[in-house]
Amino acid sequence: MATNAQMVTRKIASVNPATGEVLREFDCVSSGEVHEAVGRAREAQMDWQNRGLPERLGMLRKFQRILHARKNEVAECITRESGKPVSEALVTEVSVVLDAVRFLIENAHGVLQDEPIPHGNLATRLKRGKLARAPYGVIGIVSPWNYPFSIPATETLAALVAGNTVVLKPSELTSMGAMELQSMLRAAEIPENAFQVAVGDGLTGSALVASEIDKLVFTGSVATGKRIAAAAAERLLPVVLELGGKDPMIVLDDADLDVASSAAVWGAFVNAGQACLSVERCYVHRDLYRKFLELCVEKVKALRVGNGMDPETEVGPLITERQLRLVEAHVLDAKQQGARVLAGGERLTGLGTNFYAPTILADVSHDMRVMHEETFGPVLPVTSFETEEEAVTLANDSLYGLAASVWTGDSRRGERLARQIHAGTVMVNDVVSCFAISEAPHGGVKASGIGRTHGRFGLQEMVWLKYIDTDLMPKMKKSWWYGYGPAFRQQMEGFVDLQFGRGLSARLRGAIAAIGTVYRKKL
Ligand code: NAD
Repeated sequence: MATNAQMVTRKIASVNPATGEVLREFDCVSSGEVHEAVGRAREAQMDWQNRGLPERLGMLRKFQRILHARKNEVAECITRESGKPVSEALVTEVSVVLDAVRFLIENAHGVLQDEPIPHGNLATRLKRGKLARAPYGVIGIVSPWNYPFSIPATETLAALVAGNTVVLKPSELTSMGAMELQSMLRAAEIPENAFQVAVGDGLTGSALVASEIDKLVFTGSVATGKRIAAAAAERLLPVVLELGGKDPMIVLDDADLDVASSAAVWGAFVNAGQACLSVERCYVHRDLYRKFLELCVEKVKALRVGNGMDPETEVGPLITERQLRLVEAHVLDAKQQGARVLAGGERLTGLGTNFYAPTILADVSHDMRVMHEETFGPVLPVTSFETEEEAVTLANDSLYGLAASVWTGDSRRGERLARQIHAGTVMVNDVVSCFAISEAPHGGVKASGIGRTHGRFGLQEMVWLKYIDTDLMPKMKKSWWYGYGPAFRQQMEGFVDLQFGRGLSARLRGAIAAIGTVYRKKL
C-alpha cells in the first residue's frame, strides 16, 4: 500500500533563470499515470502506423507551417524558461526543428522503404530476400533542459514519422517547451494519444523506463544514462543514450587565429556553455598560444551578458544556481592547481543569481576537473601542445567522445587528424553547428553514449529490421533436409569445394562430386 508520503503529489516548476520568476507549476505525472499513458499510446499505435507514411508526412508538413508561423512566440517561450538569447532560441531550437521536418519530408520514404537483399551464396540463390522496417511501437523519450525544444522535438518527429507513438518525459526544469510541442502537434491533427507528454521529475522518468515502452531515447547526463541503462538491461529494453561531452578543440599551427579564436569563444559560450557540443577544452599549438589567448580575452570581454529577452544579449544565465556552483567549483579547483584566470572567473551578482562571467583559463592541465569532467558552463580552458601526436593524445585522453574540432588551413590535414580522434563527430574548421545539420548523425562514443539521433541513422533507430525471405521454389524440398550419410557428406563436401576450392579444377571436381551425388541419390 502507498504510504502518505508517496501519495503526496510531487510538484515541479518552470522558473525563468534570468529573473527567478515562477512561470508555471506542474504536478508530476505519477507512475500509474505514466503506465496509463503508455497503454493509450499502444492502443493508438496500429492506427497511426496504418495511416501510412504519406499521411504522416502530411501532418508533419502542417506542423512545420504552424511552427514557422509561431516561431517568435515559441523562441520567446524557450528563452523565458531556459535563459538563452532569443536569437539563439530561433536558430538552435526553432530552425533546427523546422529543418528536421524538411529532412524527414525529403528522406523518410527512402530510409524506411523495403530494401532488396540479393544473395551471394549458390545454395540460397533461389530465394528472394528483402529488409522491411517496422516501427517499434511505443517510444519513450526522456529529455534534458538545455535544448528543451529541439532535442525532444527532433526525436519525437523521427519516431512519429516511422509509425511509432511517443510518450515524452521532458526535464523537470523545462516542461513548457514540451507543452508547446504538444499543442502544435495537436494543431497539426496528430492524434492525441500518438504523442503524449508526461511532465515530471526523475521518478516520472524512471516510471517511463519501467513501463511497457518498446524503446527508450534518452538525452541527459552520464550518471542518469548509466542508471537508465542498468534498468533497461533488466528487461532488454533497447535504448539510445545521448549523454555528456567534453569536446576538445585543436588549433594547429597553420590555423587562422582570428577565425579560430572567434569559434572558440562562440563554441564555449553559446547557451552559456550549456551545450553537449560546447568547446569544453582547447589545445593550441605553442607558437600561436599567446596570441590566441589575447584574441580570446579581447573577444570575451566584449560579450554582452544579460537577460536573453534583450535582443542585445549574447550570453544568458545558467539554468540554476546549482549549475553555477558546479562551474565555480571547477574554476576554483583549476585556480588552486595553478591555472591563470584571464577573463571572468566570478558570478555577476548584479544581473541575478544565475549569471556567471564568461571565463578564460590558461595553463590548465589534465589533473584539473575542468579538463576531465563536464563543466557545462561558460568556461574556456586553454593549454598548448607541440606536436600533432600530442594534440591527438590529449584530445583522446577523456572518458567522453561526443564531438571535437580541428582548426587548420589545410583541410586534408584536418581530416587526417579527424580520423584519429575518438568522437562521434569531428568538425574541421567549425564547432557545434553539426547539431543543426539534419543529415548528420548525432551521437557519441565511450561515455558519451550509444546510438544516434538525427539524419538517416537517427530515423533507423526508430524501426527494427525485419528480414523477409521468400523461397522461389515452393514445391522443392531442400537437399539438406536430412538423409545424412556418406553420400550426403560427399555431396556437401563437393558443394563446399565448388564455392570455395582453390582454382578452377578444384571447383570443377567439387561440382562433379555435388551433382554426381545428387544424381546417384535420385536414382
Ligand atoms: P539529467 O541526466 O539530470 O536529466 C535528464 C532527464 O532525465 C531529465 O528529464 C530527468 O528528469 C530525467 N531523469 C533523471 N533521473 C532519471 C531516472 N532515474 N530515470 C529516468 N529519467 C530520469 O541531465 P540534465 O541535467 O537534464 O541535462 C544535462 C546533461 O545532458 C549534460 O550532461 C549534457 O551533456 C547532456 N546532454 C547530452 C546531449 C547529447 O545529445 N549527447 C544533448 C543535450 C544534453
